[in-house]
Amino acid sequence: MEQTILYGKPVADAIRQQLKEKFAGRDLTLATFLVGDNPAAKVYKRSLLKTAASLGVKTRDVELPEATTQEEAEIRLRELSEDPAITGILPLMPLPRHISKLDLIQQLDPEKDMDCVHPMNSGRLYLGITPWGPCTPRACMAILDHYDVPLEGSNVAMVGYGEVVGRPLTLMLMGRYATVTVCRSRTKNLPAITRQADVIISAVGKPGLITEDMIKEGAVVIDVGINSVEGKLVGDVPEAAKQAKASAYTPVPGGVGVVSNLMVMETLTRSF
Ligand code: NAP
Repeated sequence: MEQTILYGKPVADAIRQQLKEKFAGRDLTLATFLVGDNPAAKVYKRSLLKTAASLGVKTRDVELPEATTQEEAEIRLRELSEDPAITGILPLMPLPRHISKLDLIQQLDPEKDMDCVHPMNSGRLYLGITPWGPCTPRACMAILDHYDVPLEGSNVAMVGYGEVVGRPLTLMLMGRYATVTVCRSRTKNLPAITRQADVIISAVGKPGLITEDMIKEGAVVIDVGINSVEGKLVGDVPEAAKQAKASAYTPVPGGVGVVSNLMVMETLTRSF
């Protein structure tokens, strides 16, 4: 069986090239907004700031201590939102437990919301009237499209229904006339569903969740999971299982994650 590894790099390179042209001569500033010390959020923030700099986008790095109150966080986010020098804002997750995400993100100007977290933008996504969905699901769609994976009429097993990936990605896939079966933690007989799928997308965060026997011969596997196992980055699907059964698959690392960052930058073009 012929097999294609769906590397993120060629997709990211193509987007990077388009963005360089679109950004030329523009004065853009991306702000990151972090409350607390979550290490994964800090790693993501650093890589975002680096990607922005590589495209000539200015950055504003707002970091508030873990003990910041709800009121203080809301004031700071509102100020940032109202600052005319700021083009877009990416609020980093997770927030400390004492902060209400819903109350906080309503301080964000929906037009400056880089990851579709404001309820106005999630509503627009639900209605199918915005292209500016959250960045990781858009990265998955960009990979599927770049490598010409057919979606219309295809059976897609969407494993995971989280707010950031699975839920918005389900809407995007439905918008492309895929037949989507959404699987969650209480799904009965997950293997019976994934074995029927032309495309399996796993966005759960459990290494080894999708085993070789759960993949139909020749299926496409998009592995969104990022897990750290003994200091190594792995997805939800072991590379050996993908290699054994899939006609095409995204590697971890080197797949979806590479494209996600550029999607944040692409969202800056919403303002022009
Ligand atoms: P999340 O909000 O915690 O959602 C996880 C989902 O997985 C939930 O819907 C949960 O079901 C489901 N689930 C848990 N156990 C399951 C099982 N045994 N079988 C089937 N479904 C199960 O997580 P997330 O934020 O969406 O992130 C998911 C993964 O994607 C993580 O590994 C994260 O690191 C990764 N990620 C990657 C990128 C990237 O750029 N590559 C970006 C963002 C996130 P319930 O709904 O029933 O609870």
